This record gives sequence, structure tokens and C-alpha cells, in this order.
Amino acid sequence: MIYLDNAATTFPKPIEVVNAVANAIKKYGVNPGRSSCELSIKTAGLVYECRKAVADFFEAKGPESVVFTLNCTLAINMVLKGLLKPGDHVVISCFEHNAVVRPLKKLCNSHISFSKVEIYPKNKEKTLLEFSKVVNEKTKLLVCLHASNVWGIRLPIEEIVDFAHKKGIQVLVDAAQTAGVIKINLKKSKIDFLCVSGHKNLYGPCGVGLLISDNIEKLDTILEGGTGTNSIFLDQPNEIPEKFESGTLNVPGILGLKKGIEFVNNLSTENMFKHKFELILYLYNNLSQISYIELYTDKPNFEHHVPILSFNVKNKKSEEVAFFLNSENICVRAGLHCAPLAHAFFKTLDKGAVRISPSIFTTKDNIDFLLNAIKKL
Ligand code: PMP
Repeated sequence: MIYLDNAATTFPKPIEVVNAVANAIKKYGVNPGRSSCELSIKTAGLVYECRKAVADFFEAKGPESVVFTLNCTLAINMVLKGLLKPGDHVVISCFEHNAVVRPLKKLCNSHISFSKVEIYPKNKEKTLLEFSKVVNEKTKLLVCLHASNVWGIRLPIEEIVDFAHKKGIQVLVDAAQTAGVIKINLKKSKIDFLCVSGHKNLYGPCGVGLLISDNIEKLDTILEGGTGTNSIFLDQPNEIPEKFESGTLNVPGILGLKKGIEFVNNLSTENMFKHKFELILYLYNNLSQISYIELYTDKPNFEHHVPILSFNVKNKKSEEVAFFLNSENICVRAGLHCAPLAHAFFKTLDKGAVRISPSIFTTKDNIDFLLNAIKKL
């Protein structure tokens, strides 16, 4: 099978990651920070090393800025529900994923409101102007994805953070599609809350995500329980990051993620980006020669896009195309990609789009195979 749905989760995982997960189950099948046996202490040490690797990778203050979650969705929910109070107002971009929109919709029942802002691809000034039109004295948080999971369009995060901070507003960046693809420096960018999938471009296994923040103490918890510390107290302890990690950790996932980060570091984020970008550019150039293909975005460019491309075949629903490609042994994602707002932007809510997202393991031959299959349509 040719797998071109890496924006959902990367597959295959590097062999180092597979081995680390298997090794964790075989050798470290204990509960870190719970039992007093040597193996439990050693396992807790390995988890700490991953925390440190994450902090280094994103240039956060230190390991205590890193909270392990199940996925990016949970990290986003932790910020929205742990920060916002009745009366607060939130601003989001018009590309946000349902991981942002659905929790916010629910929070509307608790007297929290939100406004959506139009994005002008490639035009930072116009985009910022849109943000400035909707912020008000109640705006506490601005939520913005780093790049659209449907259109690959990048948002001017640094400028958005600058703008928000000048108004005293905090920023949540959804880096599900960019962590491991674009360098993110927490200190320099001053992002308040960075939410990340561990299982996409960091090449960790499914079931691992990250909430990274140098100001995590600003959040309340949305989940309380055992932390392995201060068990005498019935209240949730205040020690960070344990405060936010109630329940047994996903040790195989975390140790797998550490190897994933090493894999990205060894090849370098820049090289990963370049490899995938060249494939997407090649695909775009070829698709644009086919009369029955509908492309929505401009020709991908390094500064304004990440390597994700969505298109349609004239007079066909995206699901039909994906079904046909599946019969040709090619796996893509059709439909709305959990991002109806992003589809509304290019008026594709009725038929969705066919999304192609390569990984470091995708080759030019794979893209040629896809192009040949599309030509059979
Ligand atoms: N935000 C964006 C932009 C995404 O693409 C995704 C995954 N499709 C998510 C959030 C949710 O990520 P996860 O599956 O890790 O919860």
C-alpha cells in the first residue's frame, strides 16, 4: 500500500520507534513514579529523559514545561477548559480544526464566547487587521493553528503572538501539522501554549501528544487523580508537571516518542521539510496540467505552505476518488478532515477534498504511481 495520509498519523514509523515501543513493553512494563522498585525508578528516569528531549527540541525553559497527553486534542482541551472562565472571549482563525471548535462550542454553554477571523494567505498585514477588528477587553485567548491540516497554508504565528501580547492576550498555537516540520522555538516565539501531536511529524506512536508551556501554572486541571506523589492529600497536588498528568502514563508511547524526536533531529527538521516539499511541488505541477483537476491553493512555496495538498476531481465527490484510489492500493484522506471551517473557506463543504500528505518515507515513485492512478479516472 502507498500511504499518503501522514497528516492523520505518520505510517510507517521508523524502526527505532517500533523497537523502542516493543522494548518498553518487554523491559519497562512497570508504573513509573509509583512503585519503589529499581525498575520503576529507572522507568521514571527514561520518561524524564523524553520530557527533556521535548523541552530541548522546542527550546522550552525545561522538562517541567512539558506535559504528556494522549494527543493534540487533549492538549487543546486542557488549555481551553483549564484557562477560560465565564465571561471570557476567544478569537480563532477560520482554519481551525474541530479539536478547537467543538470544545469552544461546548464552552459557550458556560458563557464563554468566541469570534472567528478571516485569514488572508500570504498577507500578514491584512490577516492581523482582521484579528484587531474582533479583539475586545474580554478577549483572553487567541487560538491559531500553525498550518492548515487541509490546505497546507501557514499562518504568521510570530506576528500573531506579538499582536496578541501587546493587547495582553495569551496565545494557543495548534502545531499538530508543523511540529517536526517547521522549527518551533518556544522562548523566541513566546507562544504561551503549544499543543502538539506526538504521532504525526515527530514519528511517535499513536496515543501520545504534548502540551508545552513555560507558564503552565496558569492553567487549572481538567482531570484529577493519582499522581504517585503527596497521596495523603485529597486535593490535586500543585507540583508541575505531575499536576496535569493524573493516571498511569503511556510509557511505551513516551519512549517511542523519544526515538521519534531523535529520528527527526538526526535527519533535521529542514531536510524533512525539503524532502516532502519537493514531492508536493512535483505533485502540484503535474496535477495542474490535468484539465479535470481542481486545485484551490497557489503553487506551494516554502514560506507560506507546509507539504500538504488537497484537490478535487471535477464532478466527483472526494470520497469517490479516495475509494477509487484505495482500489489502486493508495491510501489518502477524503471528506472534511475534521475541519469544516477550513473547507468553508474554499467552498468545498459539499464535496470535501482529496488530501495528499507525504512523510519522509514517501518517494517520487509513490507520487508517480498516484498520478498514474488519477489519470485512470
Ligand atoms: N489540530 C490539527 C490542525 C490537526 O490536523 C489534528 C489532527 N488531524 C488535530 C488538531 C488533532 O490531533 P490529534 O489527532 O493528535 O488529537
